[in-house]
Amino acid sequence: MSHPIPLKPVRLWHGGDYNPDQWPRDICEEDARLMQLAHINIASVAIFAWSQLEPEPGKYAWEWLDETFERLHRSGVSIALATPSAAHPRWLTQQHPEVMEVNEQGQRVQHGIRQRFCPSSPVFREHVERIDRALAERYGRHPALVLWHVSNEYAAPRCYCDLCADGFRRWLKDRYGSIDVLNRQWWGAFWSQRFNDFDQIPAPTVQTGRAWQGLMLDWKRYQSCLLCEFFKFEVAALRKISPDIPVTTNLMGHYGGLDYAKFADVMDVISWDCYAKVHGDPSGPAYAHAYMRGLKDQRPWLLMEQTPSATNWQEAATLKPPGVAALWSWQAIGHGSDSAMYFQWRRSRGGPEKMHGAVVEHAGSEKARVFQEIAALGADMAKASGKVAGTRVAAAKIGILYDQECRWAFEGSGGPGHQKPYVETVGKHYKAIWRQNLPVDLVRMDADWSPYKLLVAPMLYMVKSGEFPQNGTPEQLRTRIDEGAKIEQFVKAGGTFVTTYLSGYVNENDHVYDLGYPGPLRKLLGLWVDEMDNSKPGENPNTLVPVKHALKRSKKRYACDQYFDQIVLEGAEALAHYGANWYAGKPCVTRNRFGRGTAYYLGCAADDDFLRDFYATVAERIGLEPLLDPVKGVEVLERSGTGRRLLFLLNHTDERKNVRLGDLRGVDLLSGEELAKKARLAPYGVRILEVTGIAPRKKKDRS
Ligand SMILES: [Zn+2]
Repeated sequence: MSHPIPLKPVRLWHGGDYNPDQWPRDICEEDARLMQLAHINIASVAIFAWSQLEPEPGKYAWEWLDETFERLHRSGVSIALATPSAAHPRWLTQQHPEVMEVNEQGQRVQHGIRQRFCPSSPVFREHVERIDRALAERYGRHPALVLWHVSNEYAAPRCYCDLCADGFRRWLKDRYGSIDVLNRQWWGAFWSQRFNDFDQIPAPTVQTGRAWQGLMLDWKRYQSCLLCEFFKFEVAALRKISPDIPVTTNLMGHYGGLDYAKFADVMDVISWDCYAKVHGDPSGPAYAHAYMRGLKDQRPWLLMEQTPSATNWQEAATLKPPGVAALWSWQAIGHGSDSAMYFQWRRSRGGPEKMHGAVVEHAGSEKARVFQEIAALGADMAKASGKVAGTRVAAAKIGILYDQECRWAFEGSGGPGHQKPYVETVGKHYKAIWRQNLPVDLVRMDADWSPYKLLVAPMLYMVKSGEFPQNGTPEQLRTRIDEGAKIEQFVKAGGTFVTTYLSGYVNENDHVYDLGYPGPLRKLLGLWVDEMDNSKPGENPNTLVPVKHALKRSKKRYACDQYFDQIVLEGAEALAHYGANWYAGKPCVTRNRFGRGTAYYLGCAADDDFLRDFYATVAERIGLEPLLDPVKGVEVLERSGTGRRLLFLLNHTDERKNVRLGDLRGVDLLSGEELAKKARLAPYGVRILEVTGIAPRKKKDRS
């Protein structure tokens, strides 16, 4: 991994998607005035502007973008300049229909939908490289340019053209070396799925893919890889001319089509578009922010898009109540973002996104509620920037492993059961830790795990053996890891590891381990799972009964549902048993000492209360303390660095809340108030406490 180029200057960035290409000059002048009122310091420009930049092949129309650069620069607004590959001009598809993708039925897709290009098309690449280079040559050294925003919301290609299918077969050859190895790994004797040669392998459609699970998993990997190569291709075109400007592309959180870990290695800074549901659980965006941050070593990232008010694509266009736009912006910043940016600056008057929320609504008034709130947030960000920028999320001691390939394999597997809640299950464990104000990261399988004391791997269905790919690029070979051995090593050295039902089933090719479950984790966990009972939610609920003193604070029994492992102990001790059904009394939660560490196994899907009490117990045993005592509905986060420690207190409710500060005292960066003992939070209120000291110890504060 090369060293990322930093985004400069170091500051909090406030801005968003800006489309001057849609507006006459007088509106653009008015935009510059309004941007100053709203304390905007960055604009993402030209995201879908190809046909405005190059109305005819080879004939560029730079005037509007030249003016935009000058106008924004004069107004103190920096620019994230996009490459326009996400939406291409009609003249291109008319001259070269082959730039469009071919669907599963073998038909070329019609022009008009964005992101439906064939990433293998040499003609498309030629035109993309030309426009990217032209942009870099014209603006790559402009003092307003701070970031390349490459394309937009890259989505998995779905192209079935001959070029893409041939590429797939070459990719498989690299991965398996020989057709015999592939047949063995894909279990080719089943349903006569054996191939004599790589040339016989088809690009799987959704329908055939269900039958060929190894094939479908590799197809997903290949699609992701193909698009990542395309991303690298765009980056290379920019780098040649503009080597000092960092690059990003805006990701989409838990979107399932791409392996973002691979994309993160190409990006200098992670950015993503967060569209959380109004009135949803605040652990949702927290979990997604943690996932995005964990893609690149927990470094600062950018919140590239959020709506200032409503969206036009969610089921209902629900408004953010007063205060929520600011609250969620600070939440992102508390999770490590160095920005709050919006889609979009100004609502368009036509087109599919004219009803999407914007900082400037159709009436264009600075008196609008949304504009006023965003302007006030901008003023607060400007005030806090000097203290917040340069810090990063404080080092967590708890990491949760999250792996997109594991998700693909599990979601694509025929059973057990129809429900495949990988993302939700990891989220439940995240929430159980997060709600206790225990700092927690999401962590890649190939990351350095040494900073962590506790690693959690819910539903780690796939544990890669490190054998595949057999050949490939140096980068692909670098990320090959024997994950079972890596986890063992972590625990042996003193780490604590937690995993659950549905872990350790298959290797990287969805090929079941012949050790039974949990495969390579069996020795470490000191148990074997003979079988797993699975039922629909609520159909066959059970209870989990902890043994005495297993948990620091314990109910007599907890609810569990859906997944019920039948555990055979091989050295582990039982911490809880099933309370009902024909397996009443059998173990369902276990602990095993291994080397200098400990490995826990949760053999059933226990309720939120159990997960809370379980993680509180484990955290206490390994000496981890919450940042502050938890208060329902209040999130507490920490950023630190450059000699300071900042606590973000975020009230996600419409009620007033008090948070006990214990021994800490400090100054609220937003209000300037000095705080000790407790902090009062208004409905949807935010405090950013710069910790200035520890108050002398007294009896426990009873506020
Ligand atoms: Zn193609």
